[in-house]
Amino acid sequence: MHEVGVALGLLEGVQTTVIDRDVERVCTVNVRLGALSGVVRDALLFSWDVVTKETICEGSELRIEEVPLVVYCERCGTQRAPAPGTGLVCPQCRSVSSNIVRGREMELVSVEVPA
Ligand SMILES: [Zn+2]
Repeated sequence: MHEVGVALGLLEGVQTTVIDRDVERVCTVNVRLGALSGVVRDALLFSWDVVTKETICEGSELRIEEVPLVVYCERCGTQRAPAPGTGLVCPQCRSVSSNIVRGREMELVSVEVPA
């Protein structure tokens, strides 16, 4: 389950983010997860609970914003959102795009600490 590695990477990112602040606890971590990131949401949530034990993120909520896949279709000359499960196929002209605009993200957006 490579989500453990992803969760560890996020935890590291959070720790780097708050390192200069006087933070004892983190309550919410917001991340963006692309449809093509290859990360399974539930597995990531589970991994988060495991890797954050005894860290400043213990008990924190991992809020995942799912980013749908968007490609740039050269034939249509515009951005298109392929239907789920159809790969990179343009829903309009059916040509296969190789230009992914969005959907690969796996990034830390923000960290919330108790007021
Ligand atoms: Zn197209």
